[in-house]
Amino acid sequence: MKQQSTKISRRDFLSYAGATAGAFGLGLSSLSCASSLQTMASPSSKRPNIIYIVVDDLGYHDLGCQGGEDIPTPFIDTIATNGMRFTDGYVTCPVCAPSRAAMMTGMYQQRFGFEFNIRESMNDCGIPLNIPTIADYLKPQGYRTAALGKWHLGLKDKYSPDNRGFDEFYGFRGGCRNYSEINPPVSGDMAAYYQDLYRNDKVITESEYLTDALGREAVNFIEKQEKDPFFLYLAFNAVHLPLQAKKEYEDRFKDKIKNADRAMYAAMLCSLDDAIGRILEAIRDKGIENDTLIFFMGDNGGKKTIANNAPLRGYKSQMLEGGIRVPMMAQWKGVIVAGSEYNKPVISIDMTATALAVAGAKPEIDGVDLIPFITKPNDGDPHEALFWRNGNVWAVRKGDWKAVGRTDSGEITLCNIAEYIREKDISDKYPEKVEEMVELYTEWNKGNVEPMWPRPWYQSVW
Ligand code: CA
Repeated sequence: MKQQSTKISRRDFLSYAGATAGAFGLGLSSLSCASSLQTMASPSSKRPNIIYIVVDDLGYHDLGCQGGEDIPTPFIDTIATNGMRFTDGYVTCPVCAPSRAAMMTGMYQQRFGFEFNIRESMNDCGIPLNIPTIADYLKPQGYRTAALGKWHLGLKDKYSPDNRGFDEFYGFRGGCRNYSEINPPVSGDMAAYYQDLYRNDKVITESEYLTDALGREAVNFIEKQEKDPFFLYLAFNAVHLPLQAKKEYEDRFKDKIKNADRAMYAAMLCSLDDAIGRILEAIRDKGIENDTLIFFMGDNGGKKTIANNAPLRGYKSQMLEGGIRVPMMAQWKGVIVAGSEYNKPVISIDMTATALAVAGAKPEIDGVDLIPFITKPNDGDPHEALFWRNGNVWAVRKGDWKAVGRTDSGEITLCNIAEYIREKDISDKYPEKVEEMVELYTEWNKGNVEPMWPRPWYQSVW
């Protein structure tokens, strides 16, 4: 059976969102599918600066450029207007740390056993030291490297960014943290929020709201760069819990958004947008926009009750689209067509492969260099299929088809995302397609290893 296009057209997207193009400043005419892009100049031989902006637990529908209406994000939206938006951009896991382990290495994290979130009580969890990080690959290419914000890829010194290829680190090693120092430390489950803040290997204190501090550190890093290209891994902990915002931002939403938690989330997202605005301005002021490739992405889907993942079904921790499909964009002026859109499935590890390719490094990793697909007309698919595994749950996306399986119950659901984005199970009608997806998964899974540590008690994926 011939499958329909994978594309959610921009018009459908807007129509679903109940928004008009003008409402968030994007003219439909300015948007084009990758297949109709005019060919722009090939990437210059000069190696570009590379910036990752990673946002924590961001809802698919919570940016203006994603169709959101209740939270203004004008600065983040400029990444879409100046670059490309990936409508079908995925991460490799619906929870934080494994998703980041993949971004950091360009490999599916199951290749090296980083299948589950870090267990804070087992402090020997991290990216194995024999698996290079993107920074390890970029250093020999002459890059200056910095990691700012949330690490979540190992608590021990040996796993920390300054020992994993980064010249500079400012941030915390765990999975979440207070945004300010105003609250006293507590014990119990909430203690995870009271993590030490580091500058390289030294514990420091910070007087600013953490999102502002991360913006400040990013601007400082960009401003002080001279001749060498740089790589900035900027992993904001916003908009992850705890819900803490600056009062002036809180005041903007408390009467506008009924759900008090979402109002606080909105305030945090606006702080984040302002911080990103300051970073984009620093890049402009330095005159390096044409020499800088910026990737923006969420680390997993938005959280239930707080975030809006429309039109997707599901939330963080789920293999449903709302757990693994995230806002994803790339900006590189002069190379990537402004205001463009790419609709084929891509995944976070492709960003890593792309960054490494433009930097002149081409290691054997799972991600695919997207430059040939996004800078000139190219009908090919970057991937035959995308894969997920988290304990007893697995998933495959191939073209419009997606299967989700459970190894404990044996249950498998199958859907056609182009026909029914909210993932109606039609496995009964297409047993041969189910079989094909199981075979694809089985083959891919042969390249995986056992998890290095058990799943944390608080984090199931379904
Ligand atoms: Ca997260």
